[in-house]
Amino acid sequence: MSFVRPDIIRPPSEHASYYLPLTSGCSNNSCAFCAFSFTTLGIRDLDDVKREIDAMSLYAKSRMWMAGQPDIVYAILRQWDGKRVFLQDGDALVYPYPRLMEALQYLNAKFPALERIASYATPQDILRRSVQELRDLKKQKLGILYMGVESGDDDVLKKIRKNVSHDQMVEAAKKVKASGILLSVTVILGLGGVAGSEKHALETARILTEMDPDYAGALTLTLIPETELYREWESGRFEMITPFDSLRELKTMVEHSTFSNCFFSSMHASNYFSIRGSMPKDKGKILRQLQALLSRRDPNMLRPEFMRGL
Ligand code: SF4
Repeated sequence: MSFVRPDIIRPPSEHASYYLPLTSGCSNNSCAFCAFSFTTLGIRDLDDVKREIDAMSLYAKSRMWMAGQPDIVYAILRQWDGKRVFLQDGDALVYPYPRLMEALQYLNAKFPALERIASYATPQDILRRSVQELRDLKKQKLGILYMGVESGDDDVLKKIRKNVSHDQMVEAAKKVKASGILLSVTVILGLGGVAGSEKHALETARILTEMDPDYAGALTLTLIPETELYREWESGRFEMITPFDSLRELKTMVEHSTFSNCFFSSMHASNYFSIRGSMPKDKGKILRQLQALLSRRDPNMLRPEFMRGL
């Protein structure tokens, strides 16, 4: 089957990157809340990847187009500053290791001034790699991995079919940190529903402490029609928490987690309120902010529903 270029889904911090697809979809396409659960993993031919890198290089040097490349390549190139590349798609680290190494070497040979390459990675992708392999990828400028943790609660992880446990995710995080690659993780407020809210928040705080990532971002659950979790909600088997309860979860996570040096935020458009700060320095300030919101319970202080995004 020929490779179909995926839509661009990337972390907000990769907004200035060139988006280079190595895969399409996600190898762990089972999570009950996620749009990637509709996808099938596609692995792009390495020669095809190299042709796109050649086209990037030609355009960067001479503003010339290469025949056979889709318009999107040039739409991205026109905005690109040549500094960062984000490897698509849902978990590009699953790309077979020798080919991944070759793709990164090729990219670096064509763009020696490249500053950083980034990718989403599932914990399973990371666990499949040795620390030495991750270090070798770092030498090829793989500078940050984005991992969806979602929850630290094993019951929630099982329910959403993440196919990985709390302890396995901590092990994956330790490998990334040992390799020197930056680790950015996301967790999802509300994923335990009403019944599992407190345990989800406490266990997520615990996993964040154990992982000690460089960046941690909280998102708020937004149900996507046709996903398994959406159907559970429709049938009444899953109950969504309220916006203020999502802030209570966020406060519990901040309060009960300890970091050595982490930029913690809830700036994603799915959230009802944005916090940001460097931990541990800003922990007290963020907790006071959240406590003030929870005490006042003024809906005008929350992001309106129509302005929330995925
Ligand atoms: S949450 Fe992550 S691992 Fe699960 S289907 Fe979505 S992209 Fe894949």
